[in-house]
Order: sequence, then structure tokens, then C-alpha cells
Amino acid sequence: MLVGAGIVNLITAYYLTEAGYSITIYDASPDPRESQHWSRYGCTRGGGDARMFTLTEADNYNDKDFTGIAHFNNLFGSKVSESGWVICDINNISIPEQTWIHEYEAVPPWLANVYNDDILSFNHESHPLWEDLIENASELFQGVELREGIVRLYSDEAHYRQSIERHRKIQSLRRAFMPEELTEIYPALADACANGVVAGAMEVVGFTLNVHKFIAKLLARLEKVGVQCFWNQSITKIIRNHHGVVIGLESSNHTITADNYVISPGVYGSGFLRGTQTENKIQGVLGGWMLIPNLAPKLEHSLKIARKGHITEDANVTVATDSKGEEILIFGSGYGYTGLDPSNILPDDLEAMYCGIEDSIKRYFPAAYEAAKQSGLLEASRRYCVRPWTSTSLGVFEAIESTSDGKLIVTGGHNTGGFTQSPAIAKAVLAALRGELHPMHHLYHPNRFASFYSQVPRRQIIETPVAQ
Ligand SMILES: Cc1cc2nc3c(=O)[nH]c(=O)nc-3n(C[C@H](O)[C@H](O)[C@H](O)COP(=O)(O)OP(=O)(O)OC[C@H]3O[C@@H](n4cnc5c(N)ncnc54)[C@H](O)[C@@H]3O)c2cc1C
Repeated sequence: MLVGAGIVNLITAYYLTEAGYSITIYDASPDPRESQHWSRYGCTRGGGDARMFTLTEADNYNDKDFTGIAHFNNLFGSKVSESGWVICDINNISIPEQTWIHEYEAVPPWLANVYNDDILSFNHESHPLWEDLIENASELFQGVELREGIVRLYSDEAHYRQSIERHRKIQSLRRAFMPEELTEIYPALADACANGVVAGAMEVVGFTLNVHKFIAKLLARLEKVGVQCFWNQSITKIIRNHHGVVIGLESSNHTITADNYVISPGVYGSGFLRGTQTENKIQGVLGGWMLIPNLAPKLEHSLKIARKGHITEDANVTVATDSKGEEILIFGSGYGYTGLDPSNILPDDLEAMYCGIEDSIKRYFPAAYEAAKQSGLLEASRRYCVRPWTSTSLGVFEAIESTSDGKLIVTGGHNTGGFTQSPAIAKAVLAALRGELHPMHHLYHPNRFASFYSQVPRRQIIETPVAQ
């Protein structure tokens, strides 16, 4: 039994059915193939119809050196409208939310570097798995605007230089170029270069697609091999015996049992994960979405924009089509901490995020900006979704014993990379169900940081990095 039909569990379902498991899926939201209002869905279906695979997608977001010591690990210290990451009412957050922020602040730079490498290792594991799916399950990728190769743009030259080294090191870099060369190869970026927001650019490993169309194909394939889906079915509780062994799950006052359970609830599981080690570890970081037309000269490759110091400093721009087949660019950008409640959003800070996205659209694609403003698309296409996020940026993988020698597995918290990492997560689930080991079982253990932190005296945590 799978709970949650976001991208993470749907890819897991695919791998499990291929391995011979029979599956039922329960999700609190409507069928993602129905056109219900976006706010009724989770992160994958509720956000824009675009996701990207890159080797750096699910990053670690702690500071990795002390260069900016005054602002060390301070993303959650101010509101979005003040260029920080908080979109909820920070003065009224609960104790688990305060703990989450304190944990974030306590991660020392050397450990952040270790975590970063561990996270990126699952992007590397996922890369050949995605390539294999694209080749051997090619019907899933028909009509989903699959675009190979990503162009990264940097507004700040020092950041660009650093990034070249980073991408070279992780074997992501294909080629690097200066703005003059860029406009020749990508005429669609001429306005951006002329507006002075491109100090350097590079092509990196990756791809993008229309994720809503992709999950519709995935669901059709799963149903074809016998997977049953139950929509609008909220699971409210994990039922355990007095030894802590899972007996079943509760939904609308009845108990559902299975041999094994895989739960991937995004940021919506806080109530029903009570009593697990994952409880309170996954909290929300919102991102906004907007659409513009892909005007001539058309952009052919999706982009990753880094605009240092801007209110929405990272943006993905995906070359895609809308539901009517019109060629569009989908902007996804911004970070806003909601805490445990994904609806805890201050309207003024959300507005500030949308304005930040609009400002980037205007600077990088001025003609499409004007067209989208005139047609009303810019305003009408505004939406947001909330990413499941942990204080360390590490994902979560928890396995609990269930009756009949089965398991209940919780996965989640993959911040900016749930799509990217989903094949590696599926492999880790499969390994756990077979009683085999996978590095994710340890590296994404929900108490990895807490057990480290509580065993090391606080003074030592603070002093170690200074001595390095
Ligand atoms: C602006 C933006 C851009 C992004 N771009 C990228 C990108 O390019 N690449 C990338 O890899 N990632 C990207 N991400 C992150 C990615 O979208 C998320 O990591 C991913 O969608 C999370 O998927 P999920 O399956 O974990 O959760 P969700 O999609 O939220 O799915 C969880 C599901 O569980 C269901 N559920 C929850 N609780 C219950 C319950 N009690 N009972 C039944 N069902 C329940 C929900 O209804 C939901 O359908 C982006 C995120 C944002 C905000």
C-alpha cells in the first residue's frame, strides 16, 4: 500500500510493479489527471507543470564556509519581503518549528559539506536510472516536452567562476561561455545579455519535462498493470500494537492493512506521521510559478538562473507546452518557509515573491513579459506549491517493522529535488523491502543529525569549524 501520489511515490510505484509487487495507492487529493483547482493538490501536481533533473538539484542549503560570518546559517532569520526565507508568521511558530530552525542554524560548515556530497550522490545514482527509463520506458516520455541539456545563467561573475569549478568537479559541466558567445548560440537570450543580467553561462547535464503530463502517463501505465488508486482518501493514523509494530493504517474510521506500506506525504504528513522518527522533521518551503509565451526567437533549452542578491535569486525556466499545446516558458522560483502548516502564508510576503519572479521575467524576457502582462497570462498563471524540506536538507528514509514480517517505510523531505532523486528513492525502498542495504537507509536516517548533535557537546560544534 502506498500513501501519497506525488512524483516520489509514483516513481516508487513504477519500480515496485516492475519488481512484481501488487500495489494500491491512497491519496488525500483528487486524481491528478482531473482539472481540479491547483490548491487541492500536493507539491508535484499543485505547482507548475515543469520539473528539471540536474546533478545539483537537491542541494544542501546550510552555509559551507564562514566567509559571511555575520549572516551564518541565517536564511530563516528574516521574511521574504526582506530578502529572507520566511513566509509564515515567525513570531507565532510552534516548538517543533523553532527546533527545526535551531537545527538548521546549528549545522557546521564541514558537516554541511558532508551532507551536500551525500545528497548529490543520490542525484548521481538517479542519473543513469532516468536515462534507462527514457530509453526503456520511452512511452512515458512521449508528448511530455522532454528537453535534453540545461543552460545555467549567472548574474555575478565571481559566482559564475566558482560554479564552473563546482560543475566540473561533479562532472556536470558540458561547456562554459561568455555572454557574447551565448547570444550567438541562444538568440532567445539576447535581451537578457543586453540587460546586463548575464555575467556568464554554461551548459550542464540535465533534462526537463512537463511533470503533470508525465504523471498522467505514469498513472495510466500503473493502472494498466493492475494498480488500484483511491483518490480523496486521507490516511489519518498509523496503528501499532504495544510493541510498536505497525498493524495497519486508519482512514475514515476504518483500518486498511497490507503486507508493506510506503508513505511519501510531501509536507502534508505532520499529523499522521505522529510517533515516527520522521515526525516534525519535514516542514514546508514554498515556491512560486508563472508562465509567459515562448516568443520568437524561441528558447530551445531550459534554463537555471542564478541572480545573486535578488529576492528570488534562483529560478528554473522550463521550455514547455500548456494544456492547449501552446509553447510557453514556465518560471519556478522563490523560497518561503511555512513551518509544519503549508497554508501558513503571509499574503504580503507571497506578493513580494511573485513581484520578484515578475522582475526576473522582465529582465530576462522583456518582450514575453509585456505580452504576458497584456494578455493577463502573467497574473492568471500565478500559483505556488510547498516543497517538503528538512533542517539539514537531507531527505528522510525511515523503516518500521509491520506485522507479517513486512515494513512501513517513510520517504520524503527532498527539498528542491524530489523529482530528480525519485529513482534512487525507489531503489532504496525496493532494497528495504527485500531486506537488502542501500546507502539511503543510513544517509537519510531521520535522526542522523539529531543523534550526532546530541552526542557532541555544543561548544565543540561551534569551535571545530573555526579551528579549520
Ligand atoms: C518552484 C519549485 C520548483 C521545483 N523544481 C524542481 C525541479 O526542477 N526538480 C526537482 O527535482 N524538484 C523540484 N522541486 C521540488 C519537487 O517539486 C518536490 O520535491 C516534489 O514535488 C515533492 O514530491 P512528493 O511526492 O514528495 O510530495 P507531493 O507532490 O506533495 O505529494 C505528496 C502526496 O501525498 C498526499 N498525502 C499527504 N498526506 C496524506 C494523507 N494523510 N493521506 C493520503 N494522502 C496524503 C498528498 O495529497 C500529495 O498528493 C520544485 C519545487 C518547487 C516549489
